[in-house]
Amino acid sequence: MSLQRILTDRIAATGPITLADYMSEALLHPTHGYYTTRDPLGVAGDFTTAPEISQMFGELIGLSLAQSWLDQGAPAAITLAELGPGRGTLMADILRATARVPGFHAALQIVLIEASPALRAVQATTLQDHAPRWLDSVHDLPDQPLYLVANEFFDALPVHQYQRDGDRWRERMVGVEGDRLRMGLGPAMPQPALAHRLEDTQQDDIVEVCPSASPMIDTISARIRDHGGAALIIDYGDWRSLGDTLQALKAHQTTDPLTDPGTADLTTHVDFEALTQAANCPFTRVTPQGVFLERLGITQRAQALAETLHDAPLEAHVAAHRRLTHPAEMGNLFKVLGLYPQGATPPPGLEP
Ligand code: SAH
Repeated sequence: MSLQRILTDRIAATGPITLADYMSEALLHPTHGYYTTRDPLGVAGDFTTAPEISQMFGELIGLSLAQSWLDQGAPAAITLAELGPGRGTLMADILRATARVPGFHAALQIVLIEASPALRAVQATTLQDHAPRWLDSVHDLPDQPLYLVANEFFDALPVHQYQRDGDRWRERMVGVEGDRLRMGLGPAMPQPALAHRLEDTQQDDIVEVCPSASPMIDTISARIRDHGGAALIIDYGDWRSLGDTLQALKAHQTTDPLTDPGTADLTTHVDFEALTQAANCPFTRVTPQGVFLERLGITQRAQALAETLHDAPLEAHVAAHRRLTHPAEMGNLFKVLGLYPQGATPPPGLEP
């Protein structure tokens, strides 16, 4: 039975479900979920991410994290963690770029937080020489300095959407009409947690709330506060999110998020303000990816790599550099947020 059928049957029997429940089923249903059943990345897949575009992305992230480690006195036993590591490409590039940083590899235990069995298997192959450990939750992160990266992870977490009605809010709910899934509205209710959004919204505006993001930031930032470390969170989004940003991608094309759940990637823009509100350690300015990568020297790295390339590979390399950094491509849409301990230098590439 398809997931569409499972969900229409369930909604017909027990009533509409929240968008967050819908996203969670579509992405992580144990047998039909999008991430649980496949490797969605790359040209043959549904979408491409920065580490899959060029090795330079992971190399520069690796150097930023290793520099934070050096700045903090090169602690002897640390966790190098990634949330939602996809194919393991970013972690592999981080490890290659930091292999010559004296003592860094000897100090680190690699921890991957990954919900998808299919992608855990791909990561095991990519990182077979590095003995990673997989954890189900950030709560299980060891009590030691934490150097963490998350690229296009928070955009995959389920969100609730609320539509403003006077000074109350109606939750957008997924219901059924015949054999199709359809968006509807719940009753108008006060939402104390959205009080601050009455200032910047008007009648019928939609806001999004991601309930699982804040507890994760709370846990990660507490490790950094108590033991040291740094976190780099990279995603598309803005300081504050406004409007319906839900998007479904299949074979690199947008498609209807409510059709054939489990067969398309679902994402929303990340609300970076909400992430910082959950941080209990210092955080950096939310910085455009292009600016961050330029500050870390991507142009020099690109020129060095270009020296050995010709013809089509050279053209692809130049295009990849542009794609990662140009404001009209990923350079501006994607943002970077850093977390770091009180009294420490912010992660290289970012400002307090
Ligand atoms: N960071 C990778 C992959 C991004 S795709 C890259 O940049 O290429 C999103 C990743 O997050 C996938 O690995 C997906 O399986 C994982 N993921 C999504 N929701 C998750 C959750 N709730 N818990 C753990 N991992 C999750």
